[in-house]
Amino acid sequence: MIKCSFCGSKSKDTDLLLNGDGGASICNNCIENAYGLINDDEDTSEEEDLEDYDEIEKGKYNSKKTNFEFNLIPPKELKEKLDEYVIGQDDAKKILSVAVYNHYKRLKQLKNNDKTDDVHIEKSNIILIGETGTGKTYLAKTLAKFLNVPFCIVDATILTEAGYVGEDVESILSRLLQAADYNLDAASEGIVYIDEIDKIARKGDNPSITRDVSGEGVQQGLLKILEGSDVNVAPQGGRKHPDQKMIKINTENILFICGGAFDGIKQIISKRLNKQPIGFVSKKSEQIDSQSVNILKYVNSSDIKSFGLIPELLGRLPIISYLNPLDENAISQILTKPKNALLKQYKKLLDIDEVEIEVKDEAVSEIVKKTMEIKLGARGLRAICETIFLDIMYDIEDSKKQKRIIIDNNFVLEKFKEKEI
Ligand code: ADP
Repeated sequence: MIKCSFCGSKSKDTDLLLNGDGGASICNNCIENAYGLINDDEDTSEEEDLEDYDEIEKGKYNSKKTNFEFNLIPPKELKEKLDEYVIGQDDAKKILSVAVYNHYKRLKQLKNNDKTDDVHIEKSNIILIGETGTGKTYLAKTLAKFLNVPFCIVDATILTEAGYVGEDVESILSRLLQAADYNLDAASEGIVYIDEIDKIARKGDNPSITRDVSGEGVQQGLLKILEGSDVNVAPQGGRKHPDQKMIKINTENILFICGGAFDGIKQIISKRLNKQPIGFVSKKSEQIDSQSVNILKYVNSSDIKSFGLIPELLGRLPIISYLNPLDENAISQILTKPKNALLKQYKKLLDIDEVEIEVKDEAVSEIVKKTMEIKLGARGLRAICETIFLDIMYDIEDSKKQKRIIIDNNFVLEKFKEKEI
């Protein structure tokens, strides 16, 4: 007689008796009970999740107990700290240091509820213009590290208007929330770096009547986020969907730094100055050689508007700064001088395996020359160094046998030849 292996009910006493492998059976009542148990479990885990969401929303959730208490560092001190990591770019460092100090000073005042008068200090988001690999992202990242605030980098090119394939503009804030370990208070005082902002420029100076999916719509979307407002975001990121639980983030105190290469803006600046791109005459009729002076120095918001950013967006990015292209000297310093210079990193990495390397100056020169050739700014350095050190790191046992590895120009040139770069 077939019986339910769980409750012992006979087949005639049940509506259904399922037979499994090896003679085991289960009746409809036991199936229902088991299903109920599974559901109960699911219910509680969902509730727990929801509690987490509520905690996040109340600003109480802190998964790893990360401590994001921002440091208020005076501008001069901040610049000096940046100098240890970022080579050159003095103007950008100075402008950023002041802007960031003012931003967090304002925030501190708000926190202390120090309403001595009715003057409301508005926040000042920043726009950085400079060729690729000159340190725009690195500056923003290093600043955030010193200030001890959550930081995230977003690429403007992946953002699209709601309803199109790509990421909603709000996903920027999901990333910041993730960078803050879901600590809502910390996230709402964080820094967001939006890279390639120039790629969402509208083509041409005239507003287009046709819909520009990748450009103007995204700029409009960014407006809402850049000004201070409450924005609903999906904590896990991705597209919004109706059943998703949303977290409200206020963007009033989030600092946005936007960066881009703005290819072609030099011509716009030159034109505004009513001069030719090469060698122009300033208003005071003094001769300035645009080969030696970075014309980006003269950039203003009207140039960026002509490039294709909408005036409303520019209004929310009042601080404009520029970065200089890196010359051979700067590239060479970047390779060797900063606290975590690339060569120091490779040395340390190999040192762990007790492999000592000595990189000769002539080798550094060759690396610098090649970096200038590939025109990726300091970004090219890592790829080149990787080529040079790959074999040493790959056959580490063999490297260990040599007490000291000398890297001279022959070594470097040989690697370039081998890897055809
Ligand atoms: P981008 O201007 O395109 O944002 P990045 O900031 O991403 O360039 O630079 C790429 C890498 O090159 C950085 O991670 C950093 O290691 C190095 N780098 C670039 N510029 C500098 C600089 N001025 N000083 C020190 N390192 C730099």
